[in-house]
Amino acid sequence: MGEIWIPEAERLGDGVIAGAGAMDAPNAPPRVVWHTTEGSSGTSAAFHGTADYLMEENYEPHILYDPITDQLGQFGPLNQSAKALANAGSVRTNRTGRVCIQIEVMAKAGTPFTGYWRPGKNFRALLRAIRSWGVPDEWPAGRLAQSYSDDSPRPLTIWQTRGGHYGHSNIPGNDHWDPGAIDTAALLAAGTDPTKETFMLPEEKKWMEGWFGALNAMAWGNKNDIAALAGTITALTKLLAAADNDLDEAAIATAVEQAVAKALRENTVDVDVTVHDKTATTPKAS
Ligand SMILES: [Zn+2]
Repeated sequence: MGEIWIPEAERLGDGVIAGAGAMDAPNAPPRVVWHTTEGSSGTSAAFHGTADYLMEENYEPHILYDPITDQLGQFGPLNQSAKALANAGSVRTNRTGRVCIQIEVMAKAGTPFTGYWRPGKNFRALLRAIRSWGVPDEWPAGRLAQSYSDDSPRPLTIWQTRGGHYGHSNIPGNDHWDPGAIDTAALLAAGTDPTKETFMLPEEKKWMEGWFGALNAMAWGNKNDIAALAGTITALTKLLAAADNDLDEAAIATAVEQAVAKALRENTVDVDVTVHDKTATTPKAS
């Protein structure tokens, strides 16, 4: 069972969409339909004016969303039908699927809202609720209408058999072209907050923190080792520069071994030193 009421959404109306009810085809996959209201947006007055209008006209979706203010409202339960679609003959499109979540975005089809919107935590809550019903991040009907005269695909068989996201311009038996040429990938991507571990369970978070802790300690340990080695190499370079050509190679090897071992004693790192000649010493930590 998914989310029926979105906690972050304001309730609009009395919580009952008149004339709506149970789904006709609850065994068909879950889906979402995106609409645009074609009116004004950006203020609380516009938000409630639009909500009242939709209720008066009996065209309620489940969700009203303002893409400028991130205001989110809900008219009815997500597990029942809404009323923003026309039927396709005998197929009651509002009632197709496990859920058919309909969203009216306060925007105009002619000016795709993903070009200027500011989705925030309420939009992420909306996508979280959509995904809680198992709606896949797909657009099974294909492209959205790009203009009023664009004859976008409205395949009845796909509508009846495939879950995912649809535009009103993809629904059989309907002739509207909303939500316009929105960026479908950006729409779904905005449902995930990159700064928060939205989908991590508490035990996963604990595990990740432990893992990062260990990695961090290892990185700092290595950093200390490298600082110690750099100091040793600087000292050896000076020694070699000062030495004459008769300096014994074995003596240098011993000096390197001793110096490196001394530098790394606290770090319990095994040191294997090979000296090739008087001018190139390559201590290796293994
Ligand atoms: Zn529509």
